[in-house]
Amino acid sequence: MSAVRRETGSVSAVRRETGSAIDALRGGVDLGGTKIQAAVVARDGEVKGEARAPTPRDGGPDGVTQAIADTVREAAEAAGARLDTLEGVGVGSPGAVDEEAGTVAEARNLPDWEEEYPLAARLAELLGVPVALGNDVQVATQAEFELGSGRPYHSLIGVFWGTGVGGGIVLDDEPWLGRGASGEIGHTVVKIGGRRCGCGRLGCLEAYAGRASMEAKARRMVEEGHKTELFEIMAKRGRERLTSGVWDRALRRDDPLATHLIGQAVEALGAGIASAVNLLDVEAAIVGGGLGTRLGEPYVERIRQAMKPHLFKDGDPPAVELAALGDLGGAIGASLLAASRA
Ligand SMILES: [Zn+2]
Repeated sequence: MSAVRRETGSVSAVRRETGSAIDALRGGVDLGGTKIQAAVVARDGEVKGEARAPTPRDGGPDGVTQAIADTVREAAEAAGARLDTLEGVGVGSPGAVDEEAGTVAEARNLPDWEEEYPLAARLAELLGVPVALGNDVQVATQAEFELGSGRPYHSLIGVFWGTGVGGGIVLDDEPWLGRGASGEIGHTVVKIGGRRCGCGRLGCLEAYAGRASMEAKARRMVEEGHKTELFEIMAKRGRERLTSGVWDRALRRDDPLATHLIGQAVEALGAGIASAVNLLDVEAAIVGGGLGTRLGEPYVERIRQAMKPHLFKDGDPPAVELAALGDLGGAIGASLLAASRA
């Protein structure tokens, strides 16, 4: 992992040394289980063009890779840039990412993606530019640290509240990668013997706050006879899943089941984030992700309140801030990977 830290650490060095070529553009891709978000980004972090596409549900890794290539092409068009003029493309990917080998394995939110797959090499063939890979959540945390809400701080945790609950850690201005699996705040335990998590264990934060777990719980509650508009809103919007937008609409209508489940999610996030802060004593927690971004500051405030009973140093809480780069944070962060390899 030291190699990874060196790469990430070189981002600022590269930017300083080549700061004269300010018009150079890079591609960044946030590869998610639901959507592929691509952006073409200038050196200063300004997004020049973007495109998004739903993540294919079949076709395996080859199909997903083709969809990524198409989305990057579209983003380059939107930026008015020729693809072959990009310095490189970075991809923030879920699953077990080997940055050095350029491979991804065990990406369980992606179709048939268990085996190790050479994503960097295949995508580079399709695009004709160098491709670098990173962990999706860590690159989003790095983006907030360098360009977003994390700029004032030397230590922080990023908490990405979406389909799952991901986390990234920065300590003393450096990403903390542990042995390669740090930041899994979604699998910290908020209730011993509690609800079953997607990871198979019991009582994880993600089992209460992850959108996939909340949807599964909502479906079970409907089967038990509880009433909710969640699934009507989903159908009306032509969605197949309870997206962040669907949850938002249901909350605005005071849907009791949605309000109940999101309330549990906020409590779980408060306990999980406060516990992480008790351990690391970081200056700030940055809350992003699909749900975090969509629900915004009012819910960040609720999370601040939910942390209070669990904070050991309760007279001096950390800053808890909404991620500034929003939906594009993952793609912008991924573009920083391309910079570090250029
Ligand atoms: Zn878990």
